[in-house]
Amino acid sequence: MNFHLDKLLNFPNITVESCSQQTNEVYLKLCLLNEEVSCPHCEKLSSEIHQDRPILIRDLSIFGQTTYLKVPRRQFYCHDCQCYFTEVLSFADKGRCYTQRYEESIYQQVKLSSIEQVSRVEGLSFDRIQGIFKHQYTQKKKQDRKKLNELASMKLDGKKNFAPFMNSH
Ligand SMILES: [Zn+2]
Repeated sequence: MNFHLDKLLNFPNITVESCSQQTNEVYLKLCLLNEEVSCPHCEKLSSEIHQDRPILIRDLSIFGQTTYLKVPRRQFYCHDCQCYFTEVLSFADKGRCYTQRYEESIYQQVKLSSIEQVSRVEGLSFDRIQGIFKHQYTQKKKQDRKKLNELASMKLDGKKNFAPFMNSH
């Protein structure tokens, strides 16, 4: 739709189809440009869309307005495995209704203030903010473990090499 909006959105292979506004809320309808997705079982590419149901994903606010992305949730069919699978989105974790950058921002805000405070600012319930915080915390632990394993397999000598990764969050 609009080159500038696509650039601001900053997700690869995704374009903003339309933009609408309600009281202090912005809705961006996205269009996924990749026609093929690789099957999680056999990794072969499939372009056969079985279902396409849009979902709302909350993203970082634009100019102080609560922002939602209308994202096509595409289910593909793999002929080789004879199974249906849902496309993995590059910008949101599986089963989450927030972008990764939104969840990261919530995580950092909670660390600086409190769940109650962030809950008020973002207009989300305590439980939701806590849920995002816990999810991010778990993701970060996983990433740390992965980094440590990678480092260990590179056989780096001396414990000091691990320090920056241990204290990065
Ligand atoms: Zn397959």
